[in-house]
Amino acid sequence: MEYMNKSIEEIHEALKKGKVTSKELIQESLKKSHELQEKCNAFVTILDDAKEQEVTEDVLSGIPYGIKDNYSTKGILSTGSSNTLKDYIPFFTATAIENLERHGAVAVGKTVMDEFGMGGTGTTGHTGIVKNPWDTTRMCAGSSAGSAAAVAAGVFPYATGSDTGDSIRKPAAYCGIVGYKPTYGMISRYGLFPFASSLDHCGALTRNVKDAAIVVDAMKGKDKYDMTSWDSSNINLASSLTGEVKGKKLCYIKELCDISSYPNASATLKEHLENFVNTLEKVKSLGIEIEEVSVDKTLLNALASVYVVISCAEATSNMSNLTGFIFGPRGEGENYIDMMKDYRTKNFSPLIKRRFVIGSYVLQKENKDRYFHNAQRVRRLLVDTWNQLFEKYDAVILPVGSGPAKHLDGSIDILDKDTAPLEEHLQVGNFGGFPSITIPDGFIDGLPVALNLTGACYDDANVLNIAYAIENILGYKNQTSKGGE
Ligand code: GLN
Repeated sequence: MEYMNKSIEEIHEALKKGKVTSKELIQESLKKSHELQEKCNAFVTILDDAKEQEVTEDVLSGIPYGIKDNYSTKGILSTGSSNTLKDYIPFFTATAIENLERHGAVAVGKTVMDEFGMGGTGTTGHTGIVKNPWDTTRMCAGSSAGSAAAVAAGVFPYATGSDTGDSIRKPAAYCGIVGYKPTYGMISRYGLFPFASSLDHCGALTRNVKDAAIVVDAMKGKDKYDMTSWDSSNINLASSLTGEVKGKKLCYIKELCDISSYPNASATLKEHLENFVNTLEKVKSLGIEIEEVSVDKTLLNALASVYVVISCAEATSNMSNLTGFIFGPRGEGENYIDMMKDYRTKNFSPLIKRRFVIGSYVLQKENKDRYFHNAQRVRRLLVDTWNQLFEKYDAVILPVGSGPAKHLDGSIDILDKDTAPLEEHLQVGNFGGFPSITIPDGFIDGLPVALNLTGACYDDANVLNIAYAIENILGYKNQTSKGGE
């Protein structure tokens, strides 16, 4: 009997009834981790000596899970998938992981990501590319690539992720699972390697909405080590999932969903958008009202550039502590500047270096107002636009990306001008710190596609409940790639 492909509640039930032990679950999960490693390269580290936990009333107790490798874990290699930290073993554990451990959760692996979370392909980690378990010629998207691959392959029911632009929600979409990032600050970022602090969120990848609620309920909480965290003890996400959604209101953005916005639309993009429109009809059958709204195209077209400017600027500043003196292998040279140069030159991948060049450029005194401050102004316009929508609607519903997982060929890092806003709109969720969840919405050419719901800050329970109701009628709950055969 396999358990790791089941929901958290089902696994908990089996543990309580004594049908399986925590030790057996760990064995199953480790075996599957090694199999997936051969096939998809999802892990930086597999924790073969993971210890069983006592099974209590806590629904997470004794159940294995995975941790993205940018969460600090005491005594366990934590690389951020970067050569700069290839042998870094932290002396403390991230608060979100400590919280899961307090619930009796058992970590069995640290998962591969794009280096320090920068990237959307799952191909830039120092241990190699992550392949999609549904089709190993395809990418998982990034940066939480290994977490998505492992949850989709049924290695464990959930894994942690982080999301600065879409890094939980895009890989979840490409791997046919659920990806949820809660409101900014609901989960402490203490111990999460910083990428762009004003955009970084912790969150979870699971195979159904209820599991996402359960996991984030355990991860969240105010933390004295993260001053942006807030007290959410009055919120219980899992128990808010009533499925009652009659009278809720959603909107979708015409400029992103209308095929006429894409003069060179591929057959796949057409199918993706048609699939989304069909889904809207099903959603309406729940008694949910859906309206089309219009958003200024110039603003939507600016989205990707705003993200690049702000995220690169913050990343450049955050990562200036990676000098090779405090963390990582020390560089060679006659003096400290040469040693630092040597370390950074040898160990950062080209993608990161490009981003540091952009970040340094936009932060330079002469350029700061023109680029960085202007990007902040446009960020504000985007956030205001979405907040105005949330005055009238419970959430914005949109398709994720322009279709299913892309091929692992040379063209993966290049954005097409026409589809850029469709590929990048999830970033608004980071600009505003909005709760945002991606759920599976069918298949194109046998590969999963997804939709996203994004709502107002602090309205997580409502957004999740709507996602829960939609998930129930769409019928792609708890799906796995079945190993991708
Ligand atoms: N794809 C985006 C990037 O390249 C998002 C990454 C993220 O959310 N960490 O930065």
